[in-house]
Amino acid sequence: MHQLIIGDRRLKGAGTISVTEPATGRPMAEVAAAGSEDLDQAVAAAKAAFPEWSGRTAVARAEVLFRFSSLVREHVEELALLEARNVGKPIGDARWEANHVADTLRYYAGAADKFFGETVQVGKPGLDITLRQAMGVVGLIVPWNFPMVIATWKLGPALATGNTVVLKPASLTPLSALRLGELGLEAGLPPGVLNVVPGPGARIGQQMSAHPDVAKIAFTGETETGRRIMATAAATIKRVSLELGGKSPNIIFADVDVEEAARHACASVFANAGQDCCARARVIVERSLYPRLVEAMAAVTTAMKVGDPLKETTEMGPVISAAQRDSTERYIALARQEGARYVCGGERPDGDGFFLRPSIFADAKPGMRIVDEEIFGPMVVVIPFDTEAEAVSIANDSIYGLSGSLWTNDLKRALRVARAVRTGVLSVNSSSSVHLQAPFGGFKQSGLGRELGMHALEHYTEIKNVYFETN
Ligand code: NAD
Repeated sequence: MHQLIIGDRRLKGAGTISVTEPATGRPMAEVAAAGSEDLDQAVAAAKAAFPEWSGRTAVARAEVLFRFSSLVREHVEELALLEARNVGKPIGDARWEANHVADTLRYYAGAADKFFGETVQVGKPGLDITLRQAMGVVGLIVPWNFPMVIATWKLGPALATGNTVVLKPASLTPLSALRLGELGLEAGLPPGVLNVVPGPGARIGQQMSAHPDVAKIAFTGETETGRRIMATAAATIKRVSLELGGKSPNIIFADVDVEEAARHACASVFANAGQDCCARARVIVERSLYPRLVEAMAAVTTAMKVGDPLKETTEMGPVISAAQRDSTERYIALARQEGARYVCGGERPDGDGFFLRPSIFADAKPGMRIVDEEIFGPMVVVIPFDTEAEAVSIANDSIYGLSGSLWTNDLKRALRVARAVRTGVLSVNSSSSVHLQAPFGGFKQSGLGRELGMHALEHYTEIKNVYFETN
């Protein structure tokens, strides 16, 4: 059984999580589930470790994080295999993610001594300076779709700035977080600086959000869960940063290469079996290109290799669970009821595991639930438009505002539309959302705060103003 990591101890917890391998539907591992006392102990361990860790120079903390990064790099194959099996993602993608974890730790090791306060010209003689100080114990609550990547986006800036951490992975995918915890200790993180406590969100996550000794919650997950965490955190005026759901637009104008746009439109929603907060799940297409684009997307989708995530040629694995597949299938049924046009896909292949072929529905409209709601499965809707203003209006007609893409060769139009779309991230003639060095996060109900880049460091520190009287 994989045990909790609290300080330098491994604990059995108060229960057991049975982890399933989505590609086979069979059990993969047994993991300890933290109970309420375990969480209290983890917070106490993090609190005890805080003075020494935050008191080190940034350079000294960075040395440990550089070692942590190197150790992750040495274990890329092991971590990739763990993640590919536990999440069901293609092994090539999992390998990229494991390397990205090492890159993220290295970036924040490098950033540790490049983030500082300022001197301020105040209206009195003397010296006024600002300090950036660690917050204390930070609770990290992460989802199952990119378990170790999202954990590290938070761990990197939290540890670099001197906080100590209690990390709660999702119950479906606790394995890579526990392995990261072990590698962190091996790299020389003092015991208590990084504690890992798998456990049920509704109890352990909730308790973390209410805990008086937790200074901040950094959360990624559903908008509804984020709302609950924010409400709970209000009682102690806890700091929160939230990366939540999305229903990102992919606006395609008629002046682009249809094959390229179709390839990207499919890849950007069906990667990770559609379980991606940045999935461009609403393809919004200029009417003169619309029939050809739908046809080209259907050709790409029908040819997609769906299957064993451990096979190098696989493009899409299973979804995470039977429940996630059922939920996507309910949206497929709803699409027909709502009057969208079925184009292709949506079948369950024969065999075990939670596989579902990617599907496309065309002639969709805002106001349909399949357009407005986050499906978080391999299904995409396509919507036609006639004018630039209409494209922007459809794109913005959402409670979400995380990510999006825009395809055009008209530079002025690209600038106009990029400004007008209300999302935190937008790529032009590209489907990439994440750059380690650039801020990532959502407008509207997609979140609060930013991850990645130097911006993330602001969300793990308090700013303190110190004035020295000289008269
Ligand atoms: P989820 O909200 O169900 O769970 C996320 C985490 O929160 C898990 O660790 C869970 O145990 C915990 N949790 C559940 N209830 C809680 C509570 N009451 N208090 C505290 N913690 C609680 O989300 P999920 O299903 O694991 O992940 C999918 C969602 O995450 C999607 O909505 C997706 O868009 C979103 N997501 C967002 C981003 C982003 O960066 N914006 C990235 C990835 C995923």
